[in-house]
Amino acid sequence: MAKRDYYDVLGVTKNASPDELKSAYRKLAVKYHPDKNPGNKTAEDKFKEASEAYGVLSDKSKKENYDNFGHAAFENGGGGRGGFGGFGGFNSTDFSDIFEDFFGDFGGRGRGSSRRGNSNNRGSDLRYDLTITLEEAYLGKKQNIQFSTSEKCNTCKGNGSKPGYNPDRCTYCGGNGRVRSNQGFFTVQQTCPQCSGSGEEITNPCSDCNGQGNKQTTKKISVTIPKGVDDGTRIRLAGKGEAGVRGGGSGDLYLFVNVESHDLFKRSDVNLFFEFPISIADAALGTTIEIPTIDGKKAKIKIPDGTQDGKQFRLKGKGMPFMRRGDFGDLYVQVRTEVPVFLNKEQKELLERFRKIENEKSNPSIKKFFQKAKNFWKN
Ligand SMILES: [Zn+2]
Ligand SMILES: [Zn+2]
Repeated sequence: MAKRDYYDVLGVTKNASPDELKSAYRKLAVKYHPDKNPGNKTAEDKFKEASEAYGVLSDKSKKENYDNFGHAAFENGGGGRGGFGGFGGFNSTDFSDIFEDFFGDFGGRGRGSSRRGNSNNRGSDLRYDLTITLEEAYLGKKQNIQFSTSEKCNTCKGNGSKPGYNPDRCTYCGGNGRVRSNQGFFTVQQTCPQCSGSGEEITNPCSDCNGQGNKQTTKKISVTIPKGVDDGTRIRLAGKGEAGVRGGGSGDLYLFVNVESHDLFKRSDVNLFFEFPISIADAALGTTIEIPTIDGKKAKIKIPDGTQDGKQFRLKGKGMPFMRRGDFGDLYVQVRTEVPVFLNKEQKELLERFRKIENEKSNPSIKKFFQKAKNFWKN
C-alpha cells in the first residue's frame, strides 16, 4: 500500500509551524488513541500513521529529508543501487519518544524513570552532492570537500558554560528535562521548552559560543570515492555531520554521488556499452579495428568477414569494477555498418561493376526474401 503524504495525514500545509503540527497531531492522537478505541484496528492504524508523520515532521532534519525526498528518504537501502543503507529514518525509538511526549502517564504506558538524555541533542545529518565523471567512477578517487557545519566549541568543550563554571539545574523543569500539563482528558508530558530536554540551564555562558556548546565552522575533509561507484550512490560518513549539543552524538554526513553521463560509454550497472560504425567493405571483407576502453587504453577487435549490422562483441572484464570486489563487468560493443555516402566517380564505377557481378549466394537473406515473395505472388 502506498504511504500517504505526511502533511495529508496530519491535515496541515507544508508551511505549518511546529505548534500547528503539534496541535494537529494531538487532535488525531486523542481521537485515535488505542486505549480509547480498544480492538479497533482502523483507529490503531490511524494512530500509528499520525504518530509516524509527526515523528518525522517534528524533527527538523527528518522533515528536511522528507521535504526533499519524500518517503524514499526513510526506506532502508532505498534505491537499491549500491546504497549504503537507509537514511536513519523513523524507528521504534522515535516512536516511543512521541508516546512519552504525549502519553507519559496514560494507561500505564509510562516512561522509565531515567531520562534518555542525549537523543534529543544529536547533531543534524548533512547532505553533500558530488558529481564525478565515469572515468573517476572507474578509478575511484580521493576528493577534498568543504562544507559548513557546526563543531563542538573548544573553549567550553561543548558544555556551553564558561570554563570553571558548571551548568545549573533547569529552573523550569527542575532538571527533569520534561514538564507535565493537563490537556483535558490527558496529562501530557512534554520536553521542557526551556532546556530542550537537557535538564540544565547555562547561567554563565561560554563567550565563544554564547552557551550553545557548538560553533558554526567550515570543515574540510578528504573523502574516498570507491571504485565502481554508480550514479545515485549514497555514502554515509558516520559522525561527520553536525556536532551534537551538550553531550549529544554527532550527526552523519551523506555523500550523494552523481556520475556524469559519458560521451561514448553507456553504463548499466557494471557493464558498459557502445555502438561503433564500420564500412561495408570492412564488414564484408573482415578487418581488425581498435576501440577505446574506459581505462583510457585501446582494445583490438577482429571483425570476421561477413559481419552483419547489429553484431555484438563482448570484451570480458572491460566494464566497470564491482564495488568492494576485485573483478569487473564487461564491455559490449555493437557493429553498425555504414552505407557510404557522397561517392566519387571511381567509387561509383566500382560499385556498379560490383552490382553486375553480385550473385545470390553472397546475399542469402535477399534470396530467401524473394523466394517467399514469389510464392506469395503465385498463390
Ligand atoms: Zn563554548
Ligand atoms: Zn528544563
